[in-house]
Amino acid sequence: MGGWRMRQPDAVVVGSGPNGLAAALTLARAGLAVDVFEGAPTAGGGCRTSALTLPGYAHDVCSAVHPLAAASPLFRSLDLGARGARLVAPPVAFAHPLDGGRAGAVSGSVADTAASLGADARAYTRLMGPLVRDAGPLTDQFLAPLRRVPRRPVAAGRFAAEGVLPATVLARRLRTEEGRALLAGLAGHSMLPLTAPVTGGFGLLLGLLAHTTGWPVVAGGSARLTDAMIAELTELGGRVETGRWVQRVEELPPARALLLDVTPRQLARLAARQLPAGYLRALRRFRYGPGVCKVDWALSGPVPWAAPACRETVTLHLGGTLAEVAASEAEVAAGRHPDRPYCLVAQPGVADPGRAPAGGHVLWGYCHVPSGSTVDMSARIEAQIERFAPGFRDLVLARSVRTAADLAAYDPNYVGGDINSGAGTLTQTLLRPVPRWNPYRTPARGLYLCSASTPPGGGVHGMCGYWAARTALRDLGLKA
Ligand SMILES: Cc1cc2nc3c(=O)[nH]c(=O)nc-3n(C[C@H](O)[C@H](O)[C@H](O)COP(=O)(O)OP(=O)(O)OC[C@H]3O[C@@H](n4cnc5c(N)ncnc54)[C@H](O)[C@@H]3O)c2cc1C
Repeated sequence: MGGWRMRQPDAVVVGSGPNGLAAALTLARAGLAVDVFEGAPTAGGGCRTSALTLPGYAHDVCSAVHPLAAASPLFRSLDLGARGARLVAPPVAFAHPLDGGRAGAVSGSVADTAASLGADARAYTRLMGPLVRDAGPLTDQFLAPLRRVPRRPVAAGRFAAEGVLPATVLARRLRTEEGRALLAGLAGHSMLPLTAPVTGGFGLLLGLLAHTTGWPVVAGGSARLTDAMIAELTELGGRVETGRWVQRVEELPPARALLLDVTPRQLARLAARQLPAGYLRALRRFRYGPGVCKVDWALSGPVPWAAPACRETVTLHLGGTLAEVAASEAEVAAGRHPDRPYCLVAQPGVADPGRAPAGGHVLWGYCHVPSGSTVDMSARIEAQIERFAPGFRDLVLARSVRTAADLAAYDPNYVGGDINSGAGTLTQTLLRPVPRWNPYRTPARGLYLCSASTPPGGGVHGMCGYWAARTALRDLGLKA
């Protein structure tokens, strides 16, 4: 601890979510002495694992499924395996059950999935085939600020032309209930009504990753990603102090660069005296999306899904047909709590059996709710699981529920329970957090924003932090 006080940092990072740690790591790799200040008692932000229900049951508190980490250049640059963070993918990337024991499922190549979709085989191949062929450059493009010149302009242009469409419009290319439901389930991750622009793009990107990286979990839990990042940071001389909420940037030790893993609302408070009025006004215009109600279960056995494909995947999209999912998301956008919500459910045990004592399983799930909601949706989520897995309720040993308001209290970056730290609208996809050429640099010299409120947005990929740190290094005249 003496050493902790002995040196002045070159750079300070506030917040130790994946983006804060990615920023710290990038700065430390460039030779800077970096200190990270985290308010919560443990590091990791949305990438933590905890025994939320019963002893021996390891639950991912926030993020659980990691296609974005698998695709991320930042995470690929870490020797994850050597640092105890192994990504393990199930045989089926994700599944979407329908009534009558049916399900759509994405696994293996585009041809494998197309073959399972019957009448939609050709349409699915036309939609996903070209994207998967250009997967590398396209994925790198999504994980960077949009102003970067595309490596494959034709592929990027085609993606943009299709991706800007609402999911409900894109789905007209598909005919089967399974094919259309698959697209709806993917697009639902956007937390927007499925009639909104760019919801098709969310679906296409996540579908593309299903065919390339798969949709893995981290063996032992998401916290291992956090531990791996902190391990390298520490080796490079970086330090993380937990239990220190920062109220004003003036409280921090002087440094050449200050990177904040916070959202625009907090940035406006933390640096109210440093930032000009016009920029503060722009920050206050930043829009947050709806919240989520999150439930974790300890189960006495695997979920008895009626459709076999659902037993071979970690991730399930529940809610039925495209029309039902669209209706659920429209209700949330209108400020209501749907009776039959679209739900995201993950059963990590399919790929990582060590999450619970012998015979037991952990289950993770959430549904979208209006911002700031205090409503416990667990009964409605369980009804959707029971609908596609009769007998599920008999397996529940314990549950832990976090309403949207609870999530906001758990991590201030989830304003109103918005797990993406900002609405994924067309405007905020293009210009996030405010309209500026470099979205990470603020008008205050040496002050940067590095959270999921900046491009490329929500998810555990660390690339917001990486790009913010690169900007800071360039401003310091250092090689990034
Ligand atoms: C329920 C849920 C499920 C999710 N599922 C997935 C998933 O399956 N896959 C996926 O890729 N993503 C998922 N996400 C999203 C993902 O977790 C986030 O997008 C990601 O964690 C954002 O990283 P970040 O570093 O920007 O912010 P965060 O991870 O939120 O970290 C911010 C950190 O900063 C700290 N902090 C904030 N303000 C201050 C302050 N003033 N002083 C000190 N510390 C401060 C916070 O305590 C927090 O630790 C999920 C999120 C939630 C909540």
